[in-house]
Amino acid sequence: MSRFMQARYSELTAYTPGEQPQDRKYIKLNTNESPFPPSEGVFRAITEAEILNLNLYPDPECRVLRSEIASYCSSFCGRDIKPENIFVSNGSDDILSFYFMAFAGANGGVLFPDITYGFYKVYSELYGAEYTEIPLNADLTVSAADYISTHKNTVIANPNAPTGLCISVSDIEDICASNPDNTVLIDEAYVDFGADSCMYLTEKYKNLITAMTYSKSRSMAGARLGFAVADKELIDDLNKIKYSTNPYSIDRLTAIAGAAAMKDSAYYVSNCRRIAATRERIKKELISDGFELTDSKSNFIFVKCPGVSGEDIYRALKERGILVRHFTKDRIKDYVRITVGTDGQMDALTEALHDIRLGAE
Ligand SMILES: *Cc1c(COP(=O)(O)O)cnc(C)c1O
Repeated sequence: MSRFMQARYSELTAYTPGEQPQDRKYIKLNTNESPFPPSEGVFRAITEAEILNLNLYPDPECRVLRSEIASYCSSFCGRDIKPENIFVSNGSDDILSFYFMAFAGANGGVLFPDITYGFYKVYSELYGAEYTEIPLNADLTVSAADYISTHKNTVIANPNAPTGLCISVSDIEDICASNPDNTVLIDEAYVDFGADSCMYLTEKYKNLITAMTYSKSRSMAGARLGFAVADKELIDDLNKIKYSTNPYSIDRLTAIAGAAAMKDSAYYVSNCRRIAATRERIKKELISDGFELTDSKSNFIFVKCPGVSGEDIYRALKERGILVRHFTKDRIKDYVRITVGTDGQMDALTEALHDIRLGAE
């Protein structure tokens, strides 16, 4: 840190993104991207005329995009979700950042699991929110009871990362109902791969925010687009923060692509089904080959190999041209997190893992 930076950042540890190597071609299973391209509507929407319009600022309110997202959400969750209930920004990381800035430090601070998405802790520290990390159960599930009647804010990824494990929507409802003076943010980045969404509860619980992203199930990680659903008052608060930092956080082309993608939701739903089917097949194959896995409902699996450290699996796979993610936290250091890619990519993976396991015996 230079002598010019504010002293309060000296203790801040930044988030470490997954590798995006440029040196060689890997089978890239480390950052939970989709192996499928964006839908055809997205290709048609990015026209030469829209590129010509790049001299103009985008609509800061993203009216067309929010209206498409609202109609998608209404049919997705069977409630009347209006554009005023939708917040959009530059990836759901950006939404999380605004959430922690606006709410996490208020009324007793914030709780989240000790093993979860790394950004929750980074943002708490960045914005000075008091936070407590609640240990997962021994089986790596989130202990929902620990979040009931705490009178603190709650942030839970459902399914959780990097375990892929879910809590039930009725547990989420109990957390919302028992903490009426605090917010509950449920990060549903992976919900489309087979978990139950709590989005419909945002109508009933004015303290609930559901955050979603285009990065995983909608094949648009490179476009940077996320959205949140909540009561209008919470959305207005998030907009206050957004308009105090960067009202133009979504560029023209991304807004257009995002609106087009929402009209093609059938395509994305079918991709998610394919990924879930591949995930279940690979889980079975690896378990019968002697590996241990969590029951992930996400687009990644969380795997350990008895007798081989997570770090060694990561390295051995990388040598074989397959990139996965390894975390150094004590309770999960024996695991690697592996994105579910195409069937072909996953067959290469199971073969490589099989060799690595045999080589270690
Ligand atoms: C990938 C991910 C995000 C961030 O997604 P972006 O929209 O790409 O910023 C948020 N939460 C969790 C749990 C994730 O895994």
